[in-house]
Amino acid sequence: MTAPAPTPAAGDLLPRAARGDRLTHAEIEALYHQPLPDVAAVAHHLRLTRRDPDTVTFLIDRNINYTNICNVGCNFCAFYRTRRQKDSYTLDYEQISHKIRELEAVGGTRILLQGGVNPELGLDYYTGLLRHVKANHPTIRIDAFSPEEVLFMEKTFGLSLDELLDTLIEAGLDGLPGAGGEILEDDVRAKAAPARIRSEDWFRIIDAAQRKGLYTIATMVIGFGETYAQRASHLLKIREQQDKANREYDGNGFSGFAMWTLQTEHTRLHGKAPGATAHEYLQQLAIARIALDNIPNIQASWPAQGFKVGQAALYYGANDLGSTMLEENVVSAAAGHDRHQATVRELIRIAVDAGFTPAIRNSRFQIIDWPDAQAILNRAPENPEGDRAVGAAS
Ligand code: SF4
Repeated sequence: MTAPAPTPAAGDLLPRAARGDRLTHAEIEALYHQPLPDVAAVAHHLRLTRRDPDTVTFLIDRNINYTNICNVGCNFCAFYRTRRQKDSYTLDYEQISHKIRELEAVGGTRILLQGGVNPELGLDYYTGLLRHVKANHPTIRIDAFSPEEVLFMEKTFGLSLDELLDTLIEAGLDGLPGAGGEILEDDVRAKAAPARIRSEDWFRIIDAAQRKGLYTIATMVIGFGETYAQRASHLLKIREQQDKANREYDGNGFSGFAMWTLQTEHTRLHGKAPGATAHEYLQQLAIARIALDNIPNIQASWPAQGFKVGQAALYYGANDLGSTMLEENVVSAAAGHDRHQATVRELIRIAVDAGFTPAIRNSRFQIIDWPDAQAILNRAPENPEGDRAVGAAS
């Protein structure tokens, strides 16, 4: 039996982190070797100083995956289909409108429009879709098309990135989802998804979006078998981009940071990638809170980890519960459980039982409603859809 590797001494690392000092790559890497309760205590302390210490926020929104046809074929994806497969689909505008009406009925304010990279769709489909949504659902924000989809459009439609984004913005685009971040180290990406957008292009597209005033969010997925050094590098790249946006784009950087664990059910990575335990998830979340000193909003991920770990995350650096996700298809296709959406009542229950006051926010993390938590919790949970409506309207 080999002796365990020596644990690097903490020295004054944790006290300095608790003071909010900016950590180096080596120091962030060293955090992975410190006792998790100590790291969590620092992360929670920073969370209390960087956001309202009494409040936990969440968003009422819906993911709409307008097509599942995709020619990228990531090894970790159970969602995509080829166009010849019987269950491949592309939604028409009315089908999308129907889904948005359901969201509007429960007080939702934002859609995440994302698809596979469908080579049969022309630019008119995307601009027409944005115009259709804006014309028929004027109160709904549209955060659409991950950097992977934008890269496809850039390569296919003969427009520069600036021209393409201007065209999409003119049609109604409000922001880009930060999907596709995973680990922004190309060694990791090349193994998990050889045709996946590379980190340089991901940042190039996010940078242009931030420069143009679009909403963006930073993301991270752990469990590919990446090293602690690669995780630290990912966080530092995100932090550097945020510095740049704060400096050059009038603060229009990432609105928040969301991370979750790799889900591999029904994918080619099943049994090949290690995934990540709840312990690793909470450790990574706490380290992200410490390392990302310029991103105030850190989300807990209940869809990948379940409600209980999602609730615990509120003491590991998270100040936000993400969203109700009236519909989610991509992560859930590869998940080993069926927890893919939450009612407003459920998210309120998580926040209240953890000792926080729940608040409903918009996609920019601005609070738009303070629901009467006790009144909602005192009602019997007869109807999940009704729960959403009650929470949203109060
Ligand atoms: S993750 Fe996205 S880009 Fe990759 S195969 Fe799935 S739908 Fe396509």
